Amino acid sequence: MTAKDATAAKGIFVNNRWSPAASGRTLPVIAPAEGSTFTQIAAGDTEDVNRAVAAARAALETGAWGRLTATERGRLLTRLAQKVADHAEDLALTEARDTGKPMKQARNDMIATARYFEYFGGAADKAHGESIPFLNGYFAFTERVPHGVTGHIIPWNYPAQMFGRTIAPALAMGNAVVMKPAEDACLTPLRLAALAAEAGFPEGALNIVTGLGEEAGAALSSHRDIDFLSFTGSPEVGTLIQTAAARNHIGCTLELGGKSPHVIFADADLDFAIPVIANTMVQNAGQTCSAGSRVIIERAIFDKVAALLAERFALLTAGTPEMDLELGPVINAAQKRRIEGFFERAERDRIPVLGEGKIAPGVPKNAFFVAPRVYGPAPRDHELSCKEVFGPVLTLLTFEDEADAVRLANATDYGLMAAVWSTNGGRALRVARRIKAGQVYVNAFGAGGGIELPFGGMKKSGHGREKGFAALHDMSQLRTTIIKHD
Ligand code: NAP
Ligand code: MG
Repeated sequence: MTAKDATAAKGIFVNNRWSPAASGRTLPVIAPAEGSTFTQIAAGDTEDVNRAVAAARAALETGAWGRLTATERGRLLTRLAQKVADHAEDLALTEARDTGKPMKQARNDMIATARYFEYFGGAADKAHGESIPFLNGYFAFTERVPHGVTGHIIPWNYPAQMFGRTIAPALAMGNAVVMKPAEDACLTPLRLAALAAEAGFPEGALNIVTGLGEEAGAALSSHRDIDFLSFTGSPEVGTLIQTAAARNHIGCTLELGGKSPHVIFADADLDFAIPVIANTMVQNAGQTCSAGSRVIIERAIFDKVAALLAERFALLTAGTPEMDLELGPVINAAQKRRIEGFFERAERDRIPVLGEGKIAPGVPKNAFFVAPRVYGPAPRDHELSCKEVFGPVLTLLTFEDEADAVRLANATDYGLMAAVWSTNGGRALRVARRIKAGQVYVNAFGAGGGIELPFGGMKKSGHGREKGFAALHDMSQLRTTIIKHD
């Protein structure tokens, strides 16, 4: 397969078949590392969403999908995992062109995507209920049943991984799904849906409607026949999704990003910590919800850590997917401008730039590259210390003592991820347990993390859990049956 075939979009995917949008409209797809249009996607709207939701409903109620056993669903997911692995290289090419990320990262993303289907394929027939001791003459049991038709809206930063993260547990539990991927990065979700059909998923189990958030996304989130919503993206759109869910009295999971802290004590193993902190920050050009974008450093070692991170950042270079350097461009012109706005305000507020990476010579002029930067020390209430930049930008802060470190770690609206770096095990654990975040690492940090590990936000980072068995619980509901037998 050539890169051209790999990136050709065929339309909207409903009932295992492709079609143009009902309106016939399309949207251009821009390659961030080229700054130019290379294909078109269908601009779906209410009519297309209605058709997709009807297909999903029929798959559950009258189609083959609703009759499959959990084991059979698990086998289909496992087969899809194998298909993703078999097509990993051309999927990675597609992902890299569509999002601009370096090839090695796109390849890693495909390994993770396959792993979601492998993990949830194996788990499909292991999420069971229990029997409950009750009154004499009664027998009571619970079982996990699907929500029904689930709606999934994902962002553009990790389209293939996000597809796996939200779709695999939903299908494992027997829901029929309709997804609206981000207009900026639809191509791997579309190809993964086609691979699912090849793997044997019955028609209507998995449907994809591409289009604008305000059109296809709004139609999906407000649809009266959707039983549950799963959303990852900005807090602003998260509010719209939760409002839409409330209007229809359905549940939702929201994953809304973060400003995740690294807390570094003076006794930390810096040789290990520094490369991990720098590399995970610039992974995906900093467009990672769980990026560790605040480094909170014990005052005694601030200068040393600042110098080491500055040195490290100076070695980072942004380039095209084929150059395969430490980072690629950001997703679009608006995101680049948004990040540059943070740079301008930081300059106005005289926040020192401690170190800066490079943009590789020879990248296309119109492409959306941003050189990675490390800033600090920044005032605690500055936007660089509290707001999600969603770019390759790291902010350094100082703390005085343990209590101050905890206060500062918890001093944003967000609570997605955190890390504590210290060779004093007792203190590391004590501090880790006081941080309000859905995932806390000690002497490690893994943006993206393991598929087995429950992941999600505390505070305004959202609610609900993805990954691990927790995802199977969120993607199903518990029914209790009570039988009187004499
Ligand atoms: P966004 O607007 O929240 O987009 C996320 C998803 O929601 C996309 O599929 C989008 O569709 C859709 N959407 C937009 N408006 C909608 C609506 N009214 N109803 C239903 N769905 C709607 O995020 P963004 O504009 O791409 O990024 C903005 C900022 O969000 C970033 O700078 C970053 O801070 C944050 N963000 C966080 C994450 C995360 O992983 N937590 C991911 C991405 C972005 P379209 O894009 O097709 O319009
Ligand atoms: Mg794109």
